[in-house]
Amino acid sequence: MKLFLDRHKTLLPRVDVIYLLTRLMTLTGIAWFTFFGDYPSSETTFFHILIGTFMLQLAVFGLAMRDRFDVKLAYFLSIVYDLIFVPMFIYYTGGLDSSFYLLMYLTASVAAYVLTFWFGIAVSALLVVAYLAVVYSEVTLQSWFGLSMRIGFLWVYYLAISYASEYLRRSEKRLLKVFDTLNMRTSELEKSQAQLEIMYENTRILGSMLDTTGVIKETSRILADVLQLERFAMILGDAKGNFLYRVRHESGRTNFHLKAVEAADITLVGKVCQMDEPITVKDIAGRDDYLPLGERTRSVMIVPLTAHGRTMGVLVAENDRPDGFGEKEHQMLSVVARSAAMALENAELHRRTEELTISDELTDTYNYRYFVQKLEEEKRRALRYDLPLSLIMVDIDWFKKLNDTYGHEVGNIVLKRLSMLIKDCIRDVDMFFRFGGEEFVIILPQTPLSEARRIGDRIREHVEGTIIEAGSAGKLKITVSCGVSSFPENGKSQDELLSVADQALYRAKGEGRNLVRSI
Ligand code: GH3
Ligand code: MG
Ligand code: MG
Repeated sequence: MKLFLDRHKTLLPRVDVIYLLTRLMTLTGIAWFTFFGDYPSSETTFFHILIGTFMLQLAVFGLAMRDRFDVKLAYFLSIVYDLIFVPMFIYYTGGLDSSFYLLMYLTASVAAYVLTFWFGIAVSALLVVAYLAVVYSEVTLQSWFGLSMRIGFLWVYYLAISYASEYLRRSEKRLLKVFDTLNMRTSELEKSQAQLEIMYENTRILGSMLDTTGVIKETSRILADVLQLERFAMILGDAKGNFLYRVRHESGRTNFHLKAVEAADITLVGKVCQMDEPITVKDIAGRDDYLPLGERTRSVMIVPLTAHGRTMGVLVAENDRPDGFGEKEHQMLSVVARSAAMALENAELHRRTEELTISDELTDTYNYRYFVQKLEEEKRRALRYDLPLSLIMVDIDWFKKLNDTYGHEVGNIVLKRLSMLIKDCIRDVDMFFRFGGEEFVIILPQTPLSEARRIGDRIREHVEGTIIEAGSAGKLKITVSCGVSSFPENGKSQDELLSVADQALYRAKGEGRNLVRSI
């Protein structure tokens, strides 16, 4: 059974100090009586015992307050002491006439403050009984009123303090609870701020990356190291509506190989892309609209990768526990998804810009600038590995006349068609450029002159044999002339190779056009 109220976490001023001060004052009062009161020697002995034990009690209190032992014990001793000595002291200082009955109020108030309600009542009742026993013989009819007032006040006093103390205790408890909540919230806030800062730092890196592969690798690093997801994937959609895994991470391993996935197996991903809204599935078990990465997967979070209103795919996080993702995880994944989507878009824009600077828009081929760069690279490679390398220069015959007859627009259609016809005739490793105007040039790595001439002829024949649908001009037929040059026999520099190809082309023109020539 609980004797004392629990006060170890008090916010109130030190009641112990106040109590000790009142005790000291009481001691002074007793000492004064001892030395100036007119008592027989037997009674003076009692006062000495009283002072001695009182001082002992103060010493106990002093030690308790210095945390030598529990202050509750000091209070307990003090209450027991009062139960014995206060009635005796009253007895020796005049019984019913003694003003020291006031000391009982002090004891009752301590009991009301430190003891549980019923123990306090018991202490007060014992005091009253002891007091009555001490003064019983002196009670007269006249003194009954004063006596009952004293005892009545004692109870009122006890109840008032006990009530006030209880009220304070409860308020204090509530206040402490508020403090605790406040502390908890503050530390939560600090934690999530720290996490956000880490996230910001990490996603900032994404913003500065310009290649798609780099963005994908960095995103995957953030998901694994910062968000510490045990299983995740990045699924991107292509123009035809197919889905590809660009990243799969499970059991601590990350796989960056492209892997197609049947849209029918992950209709949920399609839904997220379509609605552009994240979806969290608390338990995926038994559902057939999502094929998990892991066998033990229970909860799944799917967040769209959207930048400027265009959704390019999703980030997926999986967890073995049902309902394994909280609001915070969801927020973090969304932040990463947003940054990753922006970075992917940036990288794509960068790639397209790069492409624009090296490509020819009209004919969808590379431009002269890129040709110069590539020819230098290929020539160096040929030199280093002692490999042949050829150039074919292609020029449309009588193109000026075609332009003059049908107009510039028709000329443009013919240029477009011709570039397609040439692409039909060359290999994947060959590189095709618009050299300028109606002239094209092809770089053929690891190709000797004879082979290049053969390819030139193939182009010439393919063009000659094709009827071109040229818009308003209807069906047209054109021919081309080709000049071929090869490394190393025609020269070792770019200029030499180009110049020889040009001369060969000139020769083809001179010898009647629709021809392939070399020097
Ligand atoms: P040749 O058989 O000797 O090559 O005769 P040609 O008429 O083709 O002579 P040339 O190569 O000098 O003619 C180039 C013409 O190509 C001039 C110009 O009108 C035309 N041309 C150049 N660039 C473009 C273009 O971008 N679009 C169109 N439609 N025509 C172009
Ligand atoms: Mg020309
Ligand atoms: Mg021409």
